[in-house]
Amino acid sequence: MAFENLSERIQKALRNLTGKGKISEEDINAASREIRLALLEADVNFKVVKDFIKKIKQEALGKEVQESLNPGQQVIKIVNEELTKMMGESATTLTKSKHIPTIVMMVGLQGTGKTTTVGKLAYHLQKTEHARPLLIAGDIYRPAAVDQLKQIGQQLNVPVYSEENEKDVSQIVARGLAEADKNKNDYVLIDTAGRLEIDEPLMEELEKVKAVAHPDNILLVVDAMTGQAATDVAKGFDERLDVTGVILTKLDGDTRGGAALSIRAVTGKPIIYTGQGEKLTDLEDFHPDRMASRILG
Ligand code: GDP
Repeated sequence: MAFENLSERIQKALRNLTGKGKISEEDINAASREIRLALLEADVNFKVVKDFIKKIKQEALGKEVQESLNPGQQVIKIVNEELTKMMGESATTLTKSKHIPTIVMMVGLQGTGKTTTVGKLAYHLQKTEHARPLLIAGDIYRPAAVDQLKQIGQQLNVPVYSEENEKDVSQIVARGLAEADKNKNDYVLIDTAGRLEIDEPLMEELEKVKAVAHPDNILLVVDAMTGQAATDVAKGFDERLDVTGVILTKLDGDTRGGAALSIRAVTGKPIIYTGQGEKLTDLEDFHPDRMASRILG
């Protein structure tokens, strides 16, 4: 399970503080050191870790904590609050368009889970809002991706717009949007191509799709298993496309959790959903406070 190691180590560092009538600066320093190492080992961005530890120390050494009846508990509360802030404070939802359809463009590197996540989001919207989404197959370089999306569409009973011979994805997207207008779909979810790494042709194509689609949401799909590298990728996509939010996939795996903890601080963009498995039902809203509590046990 994600965060297991991190969770265990932070809990251990904090356990040493609870039950003490008074905690000294040395106690705080020792706990901070442990937490710092645990975060770095979990692959959290080093600058994020540095800022975090600074804040914890500042607050934990404050007069109120030192003079409270249970300083150890106060420190745990501070760590919880700061972890929550690191991940974005409160939950963020999709931006809804004033007029239907609300358009969501899914971007990300190959294999991160874009196509699967388009399906998961369609299901989520069906279930929570009785939505009638239309999916557009914009990953045309991988024929398997188009088939995969069509299969998902069949499973969910959701229309999938695709074309076989068009090489210009933005044209497919434009016609897909016209189709959605005709059918009065309330959401359009656009799957796009990915590469193994960020390259210029991909970015140009995505910019073109963005210009045609005017998406209300550009969601960057990031594989949590890629750790630290995930934040660099996120920065790269964000600089070119100004993404509106992040979906962190594969959090069900044995990830160290660093991406979840750093991505908000590094990019300023909120995590909106997490992928917790391969099935279409495995998408969850992201709540920073609940994630912090899960880590602190
Ligand atoms: P794309 O290339 O970005 O479109 O990626 P795909 O949607 O084809 O997904 C790549 C692989 O990751 C597939 O085997 C998916 O089943 C798997 N996958 C996607 N999301 C998750 C997730 O949240 N958890 C797990 N365990 N696997 C996932």
